[in-house]
Amino acid sequence: MKVLSVASEIQPLVKTGGLADVAGALPAALGPLGVEMRTLVPGYPAVMAAAKGGRKLRGYAALFGGRAAVIEAEAAGLSLLVLDAPHLFDRPGGLYGGNGADWPDNWRRFAALARVAADMATDASSAWQPDVVHAHDWQAALAPAYLRYGATPRFPTVVTIHNLAFQGHFPASIFPELGLPPQAMSVDGVEYYGGVGFLKAGLQAAGAITTVSPTYAREIRTPAFGMGLDGLLTLRGESVVGILNGIDVEAWNPVADAYLSASFSGRTLGARARNRKAVEERFGLEPGNEPIACIISRLTWQKGMDVLAGEFDRLLGTGLKLAILGSGDRALEGALLAGAARHRGRAGIVVGYDEELAHLMQGGCDAILLPSRFEPCGLTQLYALRYGCVPVVARTGGLADTVIDANEAAVAAGVATGLMFSPDNGDALADACRRMVELYGDRKVWAAMQKQGMRADVSWSRSAARYADLYRSLVSKG
Ligand code: ADP
Repeated sequence: MKVLSVASEIQPLVKTGGLADVAGALPAALGPLGVEMRTLVPGYPAVMAAAKGGRKLRGYAALFGGRAAVIEAEAAGLSLLVLDAPHLFDRPGGLYGGNGADWPDNWRRFAALARVAADMATDASSAWQPDVVHAHDWQAALAPAYLRYGATPRFPTVVTIHNLAFQGHFPASIFPELGLPPQAMSVDGVEYYGGVGFLKAGLQAAGAITTVSPTYAREIRTPAFGMGLDGLLTLRGESVVGILNGIDVEAWNPVADAYLSASFSGRTLGARARNRKAVEERFGLEPGNEPIACIISRLTWQKGMDVLAGEFDRLLGTGLKLAILGSGDRALEGALLAGAARHRGRAGIVVGYDEELAHLMQGGCDAILLPSRFEPCGLTQLYALRYGCVPVVARTGGLADTVIDANEAAVAAGVATGLMFSPDNGDALADACRRMVELYGDRKVWAAMQKQGMRADVSWSRSAARYADLYRSLVSKG
């Protein structure tokens, strides 16, 4: 079974969020199951540098306004097909924009990626022809549409929604340049609220739709979470499935993690104290016996960071300390910096993106807070489980599917792995923090919860098998 994965970011080369982790980890998880996965990625500068010495597979004299080529390369243990198109991807700044604004040609950049994916899939002269195309998020979602309106309309395709909030919605005026036939500009094609919807087009055309947790798969079929696509997702019914993300258990392994001050296992939890001390130093926290709760997150409304900022004083009043790592919304950064300044020694914040520090925090903090308004899967609570850092999460999406709340019965049965709260407001968050501080006071119960979390299977093994089954069922349906 050969699968062409199409992704706009991939760990460890280029990353803005969980999509990169998934795109980077899936190929290795699928290999042992007989699925050979290659990933088509944009030739951003960091990717081009990693792909040096690769072999040119295919050339385009003109692809959406410039010369382009597909380069086959092995990099960081990944089999890549790199879309080398300097006019689209060779620029300084972020993957999707710079100076706070999206790149104005994003539609062209990602239509090109999808166009090339469809070409690669159907090129009979190619030595490597995939059986399935697996497109991730709106940036890749036109690939199934190009296939559907091309010579092989029944080509097996999967679209995975990592976050329905990002849909790739553009004005209708771009349509003529996409190279799709006129009939594609219709409600059952790419048309979306009068414009062109990349994700919408993919959801309409794909053989199967997955999202990254069973709860999110249900939520997105409701108006509250569907963001305009709930009707279409409900219509697609059985074709929409939730498959939980796993994590890279090699990169995130507390027993052998070079970013920790001290490695540890479930049997040597005492060693976490050294990591905790390093966190205290890094965030300017005074030593003490209070639990340190951390946040490792994009600072956005989705992640409930406005609720956190609004409740800052009340949360600290519960007796916890806070260590925050994140970046995003400038106003939220400011509000959290101000909160930390009001509670010097008890709250600290590092504004920025720091992978090494994220590891240290998971290995040294006592809890992690995730007050997300919606969370398709969430990865940080999975890392936390593996690192004995107890997740305190809103009851939504993948958070609801991966944490077992420490209610009385769950604690008595020894199955609790974290704390869960709803609704997603400040009162419920503050209550959960109060409950967390109390549980932390009972060291036996707390340690049992840490160990139970560390025993949870957060690897890719089960979910990779579900993807493999899905690919096979699509191919056999033909
Ligand atoms: P999302 O993709 O919505 O941002 P996920 O939980 O799925 O959320 O994935 C976020 C990923 O990004 C995790 O790997 C997390 O550790 C990482 N991350 C987020 N913010 C930071 C940060 N400021 N520094 C380091 N890593 C971060």
